[in-house]
Amino acid sequence: MLQPNDIKNLLNIQDEFISLTQLDKKTLKGKLTNVVKGTLTYTPKACPCCGVKNLEYTIIKHGTKRSRIVWNKVAGFPTLLYLKKQRFYCKACSQTFSAHSSEVERNCFISNKVKQHIGSQSVEDLSMKYIAEEHTVSPATVKRVVSQFAKVYYPDFQSLPNCLLFDEFKSVKSVNGAMSFIYADGDTHEVIDILPDRRKYYLKRHFQKYPQKVREQVKLIVIDMNAAYEFAIKELFPNAKVIIDRFHIVQLVNRTLNRTRVKVMKQYNRSSYPSKGIYNKLKNHWRLLLKEESELSRTEYKYYACFGQTTQKHIVDTLLNLSEELKETYQFYQGILYALKEKKFSCFQATLQNSAPNCSDIMKVSRRTLQYHTKKGHIETAFHYNYSNGPLEGTNNKVKNIKRTAYGFVSFNSFRNRLLLSLKMKPKKRSSIESTR
Ligand SMILES: [Zn+2]
Repeated sequence: MLQPNDIKNLLNIQDEFISLTQLDKKTLKGKLTNVVKGTLTYTPKACPCCGVKNLEYTIIKHGTKRSRIVWNKVAGFPTLLYLKKQRFYCKACSQTFSAHSSEVERNCFISNKVKQHIGSQSVEDLSMKYIAEEHTVSPATVKRVVSQFAKVYYPDFQSLPNCLLFDEFKSVKSVNGAMSFIYADGDTHEVIDILPDRRKYYLKRHFQKYPQKVREQVKLIVIDMNAAYEFAIKELFPNAKVIIDRFHIVQLVNRTLNRTRVKVMKQYNRSSYPSKGIYNKLKNHWRLLLKEESELSRTEYKYYACFGQTTQKHIVDTLLNLSEELKETYQFYQGILYALKEKKFSCFQATLQNSAPNCSDIMKVSRRTLQYHTKKGHIETAFHYNYSNGPLEGTNNKVKNIKRTAYGFVSFNSFRNRLLLSLKMKPKKRSSIESTR
């Protein structure tokens, strides 16, 4: 035979002063619901109003008050706890007050366990609406709970790491700026905060919340090549060296080479023979062109579309022989890759200075961009330090996922809360929340 205590265990009620009296199933708002009834009573040690100690019946029982508390679902059914809370009367101050339980906050009708569960679910890729329905609460409640949990992860403006990573991402619709700003610790890769706008005014307003002394401690800042916050950095972080991220240098030349390939490819008619074959060769093997030259296999014969049995090196050589423009652009690209891989800044400079007259126009533009940043000294630093924005790029994927499942956030703040939670709540912490369910 089941005892009330077993039901208490099932519901995971840890408050020893709650005793359960009844368990029913009722249809509430069209949904079959577990309705659990119970009472909460104890002898208070002191009065919360005046602080007087409860000696010789200073505090007496004074009726009850019923409250309806939302509990976690049990066996798939929404569960409600109708709790009869003891009221007390203090003779010393003539005030009345209610019994308090560790399961639910004062004046709140949602149990702490439901809140914790909402917190742990909002870390996952789930929409607010879904989480609300899962816990039979309103979406507004979910929003409130999420912001309560996220507050822990707001920056305290008391310290900054040695190295900062700056990046931007496409933001939600409600924000004026097209791009939002994100920054993280260069060593731990932990996101510190996100801002709705990446423009100088907003950055200044945010970072000036950190005392000057704290900002002076930042030694390195990794930025994206086309970032416009270069000037804001000088003002805000007087001692910081700027690093153009290696990842972005590779990305730039990589994209440019690919565009050059497409341009060459389009010179061939894809519907007539034999130019169709060349078109297809250029179309199919773009990956091999982007690959590092030293990693192309030279001896391994395999079947390749449009080529038959051959080696990767042979394919690349054939493609490059099609166009002088493609060849020189490719050599420039490989020069940059090699310099970065071997960490030889002199090689990098030599590659930039090499005139390469037949290099494609778009690659010439990229080269000028690189020359501009080299002059500023932002690229040499990339050869000396191992910091990279790569981890933040991974974060940006997460941002996209969250935005998609939420069907776009109305307010930036709730987006920020949700993002901070899912990025910063440690897996360890997550599991501890799960286990307290
Ligand atoms: Zn009192």
